[in-house]
Amino acid sequence: MWFRRDLRLKDNPALEAALRFAEGNIICLYVHEQTSELRRPGGASAWWLDKSLHALRQHIEKRGGQLVLRAGEAASCINQVIAESGATAVFWNRRYDAAGRAIDAAIKTDLKRRGIEVQSFKGSLLTEPWSVMTKTGQPYRVFTPYWKTVRAHYQPHPAHTPPEQLHVRVQLSSDTLENWQLHPRQPDWSGGLQAHWTPGEAGAEARLRAFLDRSLNRYDTDRNRPDLSEGTSSLSPHLAHGEIGPAQIWRAVMAKLAMGETDPQAADVFLSELVWREFSYVLLYHYPDLASQNYNRKFDRMEWHSDAEPLKAWQSGMTGYPIVDAGMRQLWQTGWMHNRVRMIVASFLTKHLMQDWRAGEAWFWDTLVDADPGANSASWQWVAGCGADAAPYFRVFNPILQGEKFDQTGGYVCQWCPELKKLPRKYLYQPWSAPPEILSQADIRLGETYPRPIVIHKAARERALEAYARLKESEPV
Ligand code: FAD
Repeated sequence: MWFRRDLRLKDNPALEAALRFAEGNIICLYVHEQTSELRRPGGASAWWLDKSLHALRQHIEKRGGQLVLRAGEAASCINQVIAESGATAVFWNRRYDAAGRAIDAAIKTDLKRRGIEVQSFKGSLLTEPWSVMTKTGQPYRVFTPYWKTVRAHYQPHPAHTPPEQLHVRVQLSSDTLENWQLHPRQPDWSGGLQAHWTPGEAGAEARLRAFLDRSLNRYDTDRNRPDLSEGTSSLSPHLAHGEIGPAQIWRAVMAKLAMGETDPQAADVFLSELVWREFSYVLLYHYPDLASQNYNRKFDRMEWHSDAEPLKAWQSGMTGYPIVDAGMRQLWQTGWMHNRVRMIVASFLTKHLMQDWRAGEAWFWDTLVDADPGANSASWQWVAGCGADAAPYFRVFNPILQGEKFDQTGGYVCQWCPELKKLPRKYLYQPWSAPPEILSQADIRLGETYPRPIVIHKAARERALEAYARLKESEPV
């Protein structure tokens, strides 16, 4: 069983099939793939992977098994393990990025040619990206009809139970996780992540349970409130590493609905967000360059700015716009950011600062614990206006109004920008507009204790609209 982004024992289709095939006698393998074709995990994802593999190893060992860790090219690691163990079959759950698919296809062809059984499964999505098509047989490009189709037709498979017992017939040599150095050193910046998260299957289950019991019922209204710590599920890093599968979540929500324990409208909004994740994979599968190329090629002509300073100010949460800075600091400290704020900061980077969405995508890739090949690029392109079914180009999030509207208590900005916490709410999202005596009472010296805004909202908005309008008028690429 070759584990990848499916680091769980419960409801893992490839694992279940491997166990059935070999009557419990399986080798659990994880390969730290080292090839330039694959995008390397960013720092925060690598931290998570380290903890998740620790948890998986413990789980496997508790059941009498062994998690074999190997580093290198997947094909050669798998071949070595086959040679050392005499394994006759290899099982995995599918991945959907172009490079991963190419590697898997080559391995499959080679193993089959040598008479080794290979079976692959759908373990990280509800539906395969090629299986839900429009009436004309095309992949969906618009979310709402896609969601409606999935909602009407998707039936989760019955849950697979996790193995109680695993056997080790041949003890194989294994790397140590410590040698892979996934945990950051010099400096170790992971304290905030550690304080915030419990990576691993047990942590994922506990998160789901807490969300279903406490928050699902109000999800449709609370999901846009970054000031509420439990307005959303925070399941994304667990899903990104496959510590829980979307089918498990779908079944759990359906069970709540069947028992009349949750509001159907709230449950549907939550399921539709899970389906956004699926939709991102539809886009990634049918448009493999999603992380590097504009989906709408007209945007190849966009006049992005590339000055390093505004980008640095954005990355470090020092733009002078509190809701943006709060989001970027939450990301830096915890490896996660609320969805509403992700949209605000992404809009700010691409529209207020006119910076290429790929710069933001790369920063998120490095700093998010839930960095995901589908959702990250699809969402960045969506906000920038160049994606499928994207936010219209003229939609420029107003960082002042967005803060006022969604950070309803002010608690979000005050938590992540504590230097502003004495400022009356009236000025909290635009400290530069506060009279000097109010700033002084709040112990704020603009430009010293908190930055002045790096762009003026109105002018930046107009500049963005002009650039987008020029683009709109240009010839198709
Ligand atoms: P909940 O609201 O509880 O939703 C449940 C699950 O549905 C999430 O865990 C996630 O898997 C999925 N989901 C929710 N919203 C979206 C969405 N808009 N698109 C795709 N899937 C969604 N999500 C990632 O998982 N990885 C990323 O790298 C990522 N990058 C993003 C970049 C930008 C610029 C933006 C605007 C959004 C990005 N998202 C990404 C989507 C979304 O912000 C996160 O999935 C969500 O904030 C995770 O929090 P949650 O688990 O509490 O979500």
